[in-house]
Amino acid sequence: MRVEDGFQPKPYIVEHPYLDDPVLPSLLERILPQAVNHELSEDLTRLGHVLVEEIRPLAPLVHAATLTQYNEFGPRVDRLHTSKGWRQLKTFAVREGYTAIAFERKYGEHSRTFQLARAMVMIGDSHVIVCPMGMTDGAARHAMKTEILPRIRPGGSDVSLTETTASPTARTSTDLGPPYILDGLKWFSSAAEGNIAAPSSYPYPTPLSNGVRMHRLKNKVGTHGVPTAELELRGTRAWLLGPPGEGVKCIAQMLNITRVHSAVHSVGSLQRARVRGGGGSTMLHALAHLTFGAAVLLGKSECGAAGVGEEARLRMLTPAVKAYAAERATGGMERAMGALGGLGLIRDASVEKIWEGTINICGLDLVRAVTKDPQAVAHYMSWARAVLASVPSQLRQDSQRASDMLSRALDKLPGYFAEGAANPLLPCVVLNYFAIVSCALYLLEHASWSHTSCKPTRAVDAEAFRRWVEGGDLAKAEGEVEFARADFRARAEMNFRLAFGASEVSAKL
Ligand SMILES: Cc1cc2nc3c(=O)[nH]c(=O)nc-3n(C[C@H](O)[C@H](O)[C@H](O)COP(=O)(O)OP(=O)(O)OC[C@H]3O[C@@H](n4cnc5c(N)ncnc54)[C@H](O)[C@@H]3O)c2cc1C
Repeated sequence: MRVEDGFQPKPYIVEHPYLDDPVLPSLLERILPQAVNHELSEDLTRLGHVLVEEIRPLAPLVHAATLTQYNEFGPRVDRLHTSKGWRQLKTFAVREGYTAIAFERKYGEHSRTFQLARAMVMIGDSHVIVCPMGMTDGAARHAMKTEILPRIRPGGSDVSLTETTASPTARTSTDLGPPYILDGLKWFSSAAEGNIAAPSSYPYPTPLSNGVRMHRLKNKVGTHGVPTAELELRGTRAWLLGPPGEGVKCIAQMLNITRVHSAVHSVGSLQRARVRGGGGSTMLHALAHLTFGAAVLLGKSECGAAGVGEEARLRMLTPAVKAYAAERATGGMERAMGALGGLGLIRDASVEKIWEGTINICGLDLVRAVTKDPQAVAHYMSWARAVLASVPSQLRQDSQRASDMLSRALDKLPGYFAEGAANPLLPCVVLNYFAIVSCALYLLEHASWSHTSCKPTRAVDAEAFRRWVEGGDLAKAEGEVEFARADFRARAEMNFRLAFGASEVSAKL
């Protein structure tokens, strides 16, 4: 018997990534002015059709990149060959103004939301082209302060294990800023075909000219289309983007952008998994509202329209949104994968748990944020209290138990944050707790809005809030925090013993 005569699973239903999304249309209606939402809705409808008809069919053309290190005569050439599908996706993203929309600011403070809503719709078909685009976005925010911005093309960042050094050098007429020479190894560099540090033959430099050597391509579990490489910089010419000695501060600002992108990618991937595999619906609502809550604040902050309290909330939410969305969306996708059985596959989205900071690192960053700004938690609390206070009375009555639970959970937050800096077991679990509480607040804000404006989704929105709070995650997160608080020094030591055995701990570390 031939394969085509045997069992044939039904192909997936071709869903429209915006029109068939159960959350996004109503979410955008709430957070955007009517005219902006109208324009965005038309654009997302068009974009969805383009994705389904033109971009989805590119999937078979996206392959892992290859590297030719030596030519036939012996010299090292380090030539990178990306797949046709990958190159077409990149051209598509640039043509669609994936990054540009956020900087052209046609919609003022709403430009970020406009951009990230498009990103969420694109993620399912984009084969992580959004990775270099997100990094370019973060880098562009810095380059905007210089004349370099128009010349940036999609490229990699320098976030982890930075071992490169920069030495000042003499300026020439083609330099776009104070010139430096970079030397060192870059262990993980995605989108290694990018040319952000390769100005020598701008506008079309050979990616690996300008003293950049590519030692190996990474053999990864997923994100195969993205060429991720080990790079060595030898006398690579570059320009200064921020004040000398403040590199970490600069890169942290870039992370604020890339982390929100990462959260959008997690939510977008979960959305596609849900449509295909079922399950995780309340999670999708919660993560989408939380992520776009941060997106709105980011847009305001970039346009100078955010108040002090909003700036503080954005700072707190950014690492939490990134880490929590990655952890929970991948969990949701795993369930969807099970529902699909032999057709299920999760791969690319799991990287969101790693790049741009793992949950431990994001937990530490969250604790750092509230420690550095003593007013941050108070600002957050007053926003949260205002959300709780503005619930319409009927909705409050219908959701009394959930509202009370949320209110009690909120009361505990300042105390947990206060202990976070001293107890190394807390940052990660407090991040979870904070993210769950924040999801609940954004869901409640949305439910109040749809109740007051008599939207057709009002019953679903109220139920999403109730299920989120009463469903058990909040109670579990609280249990984890309380567990981590009790006798934490002895517990931390015992953690080592449980993990590495009862013998000398220090010998294993
Ligand atoms: C596919 C892929 C592409 C990438 N592309 C890029 C890129 O383009 N540019 C770039 O700069 N980077 C890139 N990265 C690197 C990525 O940013 C890092 O892998 C990530 O930030 C984690 O850092 P690390 O690998 O150094 O892990 P480590 O920092 O060594 O962490 C390992 C583990 O230890 C934990 N840990 C570390 N420090 C602490 C601490 N102080 N307290 C508690 N726990 C801790 C972490 O949570 C994690 O679980 C990429 C990674 C991947 C997988």
